[in-house]
Amino acid sequence: MNPEPFFSVVVPFYNEAENLPKLIREIDAMLRMLERTAEIILVNDGSTDEFARQPASPAFVIRWLNLSRNSGQSAAMYYGMQAARGQYVILLDADLQNDPMDAPQLWRKLVEEDLDMVTGVRLNRNDTWVRRMSSRVANTVRSVLLQDHTSDTGCTLKVLTREAAKRLPAWNGMHRFMPALTLAAGYKIGEMPVNHRARFAGVSKVSGGKRAVRATIDLLGMLWFSRRQFKGRLLPEDE
Ligand code: UDP
Ligand code: MG
Repeated sequence: MNPEPFFSVVVPFYNEAENLPKLIREIDAMLRMLERTAEIILVNDGSTDEFARQPASPAFVIRWLNLSRNSGQSAAMYYGMQAARGQYVILLDADLQNDPMDAPQLWRKLVEEDLDMVTGVRLNRNDTWVRRMSSRVANTVRSVLLQDHTSDTGCTLKVLTREAAKRLPAWNGMHRFMPALTLAAGYKIGEMPVNHRARFAGVSKVSGGKRAVRATIDLLGMLWFSRRQFKGRLLPEDE
């Protein structure tokens, strides 16, 4: 096995064949800017389209993980983060709505302010009016109830330490509560504005109605879970 990389870029994807070549090119360009070792973990969440496993530049390793069936964005992100070997984890969507070039500034903030997770805030969202409004309501209710100090939890673009990434629990909906879960587990979080673009190709995989109902049920669960999470961290073993 290759030595531990500095960054693990984790991307969940479900039927994103047309987006993958451009996605890999953009991640490649971003990683070159960072001038560190990296692995790119592409998590195929049971895609039914024909996608080609094209390579990155020889400078970076690409790992293609496959889920046995379509399991949802949280599952794909969870398994990708569990597989990550890098010191820092960068999370991105596959449809290029996130701009990989924003990741370096999130990582710098994480390091400079000694944080465990930095979440992007999509200031100029390239989504429909309905999506933007429902997201605004959901973000307001969630941040008031959970006190997670996060304005846009739905932004996939995040940078985490490996330790914080591995502490995230496995359940459908987890990806919408990552800042709250991380904060409740005793870690430090932050946020900063990022670019948000229109989906490059294909269609959104999540329906608005279902998303709202599930997010409400999940929020109730989170009110309990965030109080009951372990607060302690495992300290380094004695020599
Ligand atoms: N995704 C996934 N499994 C799913 C649904 C979505 O891995 O069951 C991926 C999808 O391919 C994309 C990301 O999760 O990379 C966000 O999905 P999408 O763009 O459809 O959501 P939206 O941006 O509309 O909220
Ligand atoms: Mg999208």
